[in-house]
Amino acid sequence: MMLVDTHCHLDASEFDPDREAVVARARAAGVTRQILPGTHADEWPLLREACQLDPGLHAAYGMHPTFLEHHADGHLDVLEAWVRRERPVAIGECGLDHYLEGLDLDAQQRWFDGHLELARDTGLPLIVHARRAVDAVIRSIRRIGSVHGVVHSFAGSEEQARQLHRLGFLIGIGGPVTYERAKRMHRVVAAVPLEQLVLETDAPDQPDSDHRGQRNEPARLPRVCEVVAGLRGMAPGDLAEATTRNACRLFGLAQ
Ligand SMILES: [Zn+2]
Repeated sequence: MMLVDTHCHLDASEFDPDREAVVARARAAGVTRQILPGTHADEWPLLREACQLDPGLHAAYGMHPTFLEHHADGHLDVLEAWVRRERPVAIGECGLDHYLEGLDLDAQQRWFDGHLELARDTGLPLIVHARRAVDAVIRSIRRIGSVHGVVHSFAGSEEQARQLHRLGFLIGIGGPVTYERAKRMHRVVAAVPLEQLVLETDAPDQPDSDHRGQRNEPARLPRVCEVVAGLRGMAPGDLAEATTRNACRLFGLAQ
C-alpha cells in the first residue's frame, strides 16, 4: 500500500527531536510521500530545509489564516518570488478561519484573496484551510475563478463538497473521520465521488481516535485509509491506490 500524506506539518517544532525517525516510520508504513504546507514567511526557509530530508517530501508555500500576526505588508510579493523561484507543488496553506476568536476577518480575506490570485496566475493548486468558513471559501473561489486545489480537513456538508467538486476542489480527510461521533463526516466521505478524495494526517495535529491527545504523525495515515475505505465499502488497498492517484494528479507528482 502506497499513500500520500497530503497535509503534514513536518517542519513543526514538535518534530525537532526525531524528524528523520518520523519520516522513516512513515515510509515503513507505506506513506512514501508527504506534502508539507507552509504557514508564514519566516518559516519558509525551514520548510525548504525539512524537504531536503527525503525525496518524497514536497513543499507548498503560503500564509495560514491563524498566523495573522506573522504576516506583514509585502509578504505576498515575497510569496510570489518564492513560488516562482522554488516551484513548489502547491500554494498554501491559506484560507479562512471563522472558528478561532479574535482573528481579523478582513485581514484573513485579503491574504486569502492574494493567494487565490497567485494560484490563478501561476496555475498551481491551492491548499485551503476552511474552518467554519466553507461557504465563505466557496464564495471567494467563485469570485476569483480559474483556480483548483484541495480543502484540507474538510468538515462541511455533502452539498458544500458537491459545490467544491464543481469548482475543481478535492477534499482532504484525516484523523477526525476515525471518531465514532463524526456522523456527518462519515456520510460525506461515503457519498463524494472517489476522484474528489485525498488523505492527510495534519500532523502533529488531529490524531486519530486511538491516539487522542498525542502528537500525530504521518505513519498513522493507514488508519485513516482503513476507516474511509470501510465507510465506502472498499478494500483499503483500492482506496489507497485511488487517493494516491488523486494526490499525484493534483500536485503533479509521478504516479
Ligand atoms: Zn495545516
